[in-house]
Amino acid sequence: MLTAVSAYFSARWPPQSRSGLEQQQLRLWGRLQSRFALSPALASYAKKPLAELPVISTAEFRDRFSDCTTQGLDAAVAADAALAAETDGREILPGGLSAGFSTGTGGGTRGLFVASPVERAIYGGRLAGKLFGPLELAGLTRIGVCLRAPNRLYEKRRVRFFGLADGDRDTAIAAWDPQVLIAPPQVLLELADAGRPLPALRRLFYGAETLNAAERRFITTRLGRRPDPIYQATEGFLGAPCEIGTLHLNEDALIVERAPLGGDRFQPIVTDLLRRTQLVVRLKLDDILRPKTCACGSPLMAVHPVEGRVQDIWRWGEQVVFPGDVEAAVATHIAPGHRWIAIGHSGGIAFACEQDADAPRLAGALAAFGRKLSREPYDRGLDFPKRRHVRWRP
Ligand SMILES: [Zn+2]
Repeated sequence: MLTAVSAYFSARWPPQSRSGLEQQQLRLWGRLQSRFALSPALASYAKKPLAELPVISTAEFRDRFSDCTTQGLDAAVAADAALAAETDGREILPGGLSAGFSTGTGGGTRGLFVASPVERAIYGGRLAGKLFGPLELAGLTRIGVCLRAPNRLYEKRRVRFFGLADGDRDTAIAAWDPQVLIAPPQVLLELADAGRPLPALRRLFYGAETLNAAERRFITTRLGRRPDPIYQATEGFLGAPCEIGTLHLNEDALIVERAPLGGDRFQPIVTDLLRRTQLVVRLKLDDILRPKTCACGSPLMAVHPVEGRVQDIWRWGEQVVFPGDVEAAVATHIAPGHRWIAIGHSGGIAFACEQDADAPRLAGALAAFGRKLSREPYDRGLDFPKRRHVRWRP
């Protein structure tokens, strides 16, 4: 309990200057390094500065699951525990460790995370600290969280989970009437589209997928609350919105280096300064980020919401098109909530949409990129569990 409370306060009130923040990072980095001896992947780097450590990709991080833990935990054993947590919530790992899967984007191995009871308390405290002020938190009795596969270990008295694929999902959410709802954009769009009233709603957060400007406005109008981004992945809790709604990276508990992608876009290389069971050190994520300025005055780096994955960037020789460019071109032409996908490939652009009337609009918007267009059938399975408007087909 004390751990969660202190995590809440330190997340709520991080250092107020860049130099204070960097001092805090340095202090936490020293403590993290003292754990390296326990991890086969990092044992030989215990005395090295951060810049001399290898940068690891998400694929390597998943492949070397066991080496990145400080308990020699076997990946298959952890995966079994993660599956159990999604079904009946049995804890079968030693030391009270719990495991879970990331949502994943279809294909490839799903990300697997493990956390100790202390880390779970820190996570919960930090999440609450980044999202809610003390008075607001005290008044919250119903927080709804929609996930692909709810991990029962995180279910609490005030927190209820809703499965993404549950047939009665929207009815169940509406019946519970949450004060806070955290859900992927596709769920928020469906709730907004159906015009389901959520009278108690005070705050709305989205994660896991992108939301374009037109969709954000639509949800704000229909549900009466602005959806604010949360940046959360298997790799940790990475960013949260300030009161203005701008996403700030959680640099009070992370070091985020930037791998340039062209223009001001970058891939974050993340070092988690608090995790002790599964060490996340110089992990290069597949997300595309862009810095922005924010008037709130926080020293934590402000970024636009994640615009997509590097694997989805379109490349034809010198011509590079980012997912955000495609969203911007299409957003005003397709009604929010209507389903569409645009797939770049070496021969041009394939697109799919659920409603025939959207096809000429989509084709018109995509013509801006000067490539040969073709239409393909749309299948809802393509957007489950994660919706991805923009993709690249290798
Ligand atoms: Zn801000």
